[in-house]
Amino acid sequence: MNREEKKKPVKKPEKLSRRDLEELMNMKAPTYNRWWWSDKKKVRNPNEPIWSIMVNESFCLWRYRQAVSMKVLYQESGKMYYKGEYTNLKIDPYELCPCGSDKKFKFCCYQKARKVRDEGFTPKNYNESRMNHEMLKVWESTDFKFCFGFDETECDGQIKSAHSIQNNRILNKISHDNHVYSMVGKISNESPIASFKKISKNKASTFFGFCDTHDTELFKPIELKAYNNEPEQNFLFAFRAHAIEYHKKLRKLNNFRKIFKINPSALIRNDSVYAYRVCELDIEDCKKDYEKFKLDYIKKDYSRLRTFYRRLDYEVNFAASSSFCVQNDLEENEMNKIYDSLEGYMPSIYLNVYPENGGTNIVISYHLEDEEKYSNYFDQLETLTNEQLTNYLNFLIIEYTENVFFNPGWIENLTESEKNSILDSFQSSIFVMKRIDLINAKNYYKFDLFNNDTF
Ligand SMILES: [Zn+2]
Ligand SMILES: [Zn+2]
Repeated sequence: MNREEKKKPVKKPEKLSRRDLEELMNMKAPTYNRWWWSDKKKVRNPNEPIWSIMVNESFCLWRYRQAVSMKVLYQESGKMYYKGEYTNLKIDPYELCPCGSDKKFKFCCYQKARKVRDEGFTPKNYNESRMNHEMLKVWESTDFKFCFGFDETECDGQIKSAHSIQNNRILNKISHDNHVYSMVGKISNESPIASFKKISKNKASTFFGFCDTHDTELFKPIELKAYNNEPEQNFLFAFRAHAIEYHKKLRKLNNFRKIFKINPSALIRNDSVYAYRVCELDIEDCKKDYEKFKLDYIKKDYSRLRTFYRRLDYEVNFAASSSFCVQNDLEENEMNKIYDSLEGYMPSIYLNVYPENGGTNIVISYHLEDEEKYSNYFDQLETLTNEQLTNYLNFLIIEYTENVFFNPGWIENLTESEKNSILDSFQSSIFVMKRIDLINAKNYYKFDLFNNDTF
């Protein structure tokens, strides 16, 4: 298969219209945008704790709403402009303090926030590796145990670190010496960077989301028997993909609480309040999605998902499981305005791609309540040939997912340019500058996750 010939289902950068240009010239760049999306020299001190939010937002936590409301526009010369929409947001004095204290903001951190702002917050001057270490420490401290099983009266046993991708059959298949590769984020002094990290198979895709009983009982139909496109199996695959993302979004909220404690002035800063609001909305979305699963489960009605299933006759060298909200359909019509991040409810789709019994299963679902949003998109998916489909998923998986794990031999056998293309494309989905560099370097999505070289 000639990889060069494959069409990339990636939206072409828009040209800058006269009106856009005028708008841009009149636009005052919002601080957040200047800070995060600026060229390297202008980046603020990355030691600020808010970086930890961003890094987690970008890499540890996949988002379906963009943290920054922004659109990239192109001029013919290739010169780039940002068009940001930014709302001045505030924490209401009488809402619960975002630090998590259960007190009203006015009577909790508000005065502290003003004091720190007026006196200036002095970030610690850590070197790069210390900085990453500190951020990881904060992130790890956000972890919590909660059983997402629907009936808590059935909960029994400890809440274990549960796999969101089946361990024995699937992860075993792509692992080597009990290890797989994952994609992780680090920050350097200048920008966030993505890299591959070899991790133990036992840690891949895990989260503290189910008690012993639920982890064992609930998922039996997909743990103990091969996938057969049964409604109950589709339901469970979708639900498990949802649960890990929901858990991560809640961790993100914890992360905010910690950061607001480290630097209370972040509570009265546009950028951090904005990011906090996006996080709140993310959680609201997850809650709504969860309720749909719960209702169906109680009624034992597994027919409320529409599932797209395709089987490839060869095994791929990766496994992915995730839920996310897709922005555009295959004809580039916008289904969800993820760049207008303070918009209303944004439902997710649920995606699982993994090798099994000599083939690869591609299982993608949405809930029928979201028929209006996604039915056309799924109709489009149905019309794709296998080649078109894998080509599209190549983009979709890296653009939207981080819960993806690779066969170590497969990664190690890629050319440097392919490796960089995966990492940079992943990074570019949240870091616009990178996207432009990649497109200019002609290395944007120049890899094929579905190449089935064996190891
Ligand atoms: Zn507080
Ligand atoms: Zn339970």
